[in-house]
Amino acid sequence: MDVTQLLRDVQGGHRLTEEEAVDLFKVHDRQVWEITAAADVLRERKNGDAVTFVRNQNLNVTNICINACGFCGFSRRESDPDSFLHDETAVRRKVAQARDRNVTEICTVSGLHPAFTGESYVDILAVIRSEAPGIHIHASNPMEVAYGARKSGWTTREMLERMKAAGLGSMCGTAAEILVDSVRERICPGKIDTATWEEIIREAHALGIHTTATIMYGSGESIEERVEHLAIIRRIQEDTGMFTEFVPLSFVHMNTPLFLRNAATAGATGREDILLYAVARMFLDNVDHIQSSWVKLGRKMAQLCLLAGADDLGGTMYEESISKGAGATDTDYLDPGEMHRIAADLGRPLRQRTTLYTLI
Ligand code: SF4
Repeated sequence: MDVTQLLRDVQGGHRLTEEEAVDLFKVHDRQVWEITAAADVLRERKNGDAVTFVRNQNLNVTNICINACGFCGFSRRESDPDSFLHDETAVRRKVAQARDRNVTEICTVSGLHPAFTGESYVDILAVIRSEAPGIHIHASNPMEVAYGARKSGWTTREMLERMKAAGLGSMCGTAAEILVDSVRERICPGKIDTATWEEIIREAHALGIHTTATIMYGSGESIEERVEHLAIIRRIQEDTGMFTEFVPLSFVHMNTPLFLRNAATAGATGREDILLYAVARMFLDNVDHIQSSWVKLGRKMAQLCLLAGADDLGGTMYEESISKGAGATDTDYLDPGEMHRIAADLGRPLRQRTTLYTLI
């Protein structure tokens, strides 16, 4: 493959095929920099120079989960000494804290608590909404929707409608992991399958609920499987246009069952991280934004991904605990002052945005 020619073609409007994406992921030498430079040009054309971020706070209502996904270091059994379940008073206290911090978004995803039903998820949204009427609620994911719906005997569409009525502003596109069932069988056998994830995302989009799109890569899946995943995201976006951004989530391995039983690699390499961003920027030509996840990558690598196709730094993430549970450090909070330093070092302005990418 002539990488230089292909990159020229892509910049001229050629849509990357799956085979070409696989070939680009296989580049190991200095042509990696050619690929990132081409992705950076596309980023500049699409989004200009601004590096955006959202002021947000996480709210994990419980870490008690019926599942035991192999890549997850967050979930606990009810009997574990460090398990938690916040009651309504605690949720209200956290929301009030978020309000005081001037966040524009509360992001809430939790474990699948054995006692939770569809009503539980709707009630949590209603509590947040009543405590902070002006804050956008970015919540749940297709797994939680499927779980709540099943527990309450609702269809997933009904569950989404009830959640929207209770205050859901947009839904997290997590629980996607790798959208290939054989991989899901290995890393998260208790989760919904690929078809169900796609169906619930499409239902949300049809109801006017925007979602993010994610990929959790680096736990041992093949390059072809990563590309298969990207192709599903591109296909859905082609039909709905309701993905706000694509968020690559690099596998944080340290405390995860998969890694501890030698069933996963120690995460993606730096080259793989950079290429995931760059190839995604080219392949997902119909997704406006790519988010550099400092929580997963660390601040230095997150900055480099802003030179490889990403235009967004995600959230301030007060109270992040999912990546921390898997062994990541420094995930608690990133001050906009530090984000400004990261962006300014690239000669780019930092701009605050809403969840749906309106600049503030
Ligand atoms: S990833 Fe989610 S569903 Fe899986 S074990 Fe962790 S909290 Fe539970």
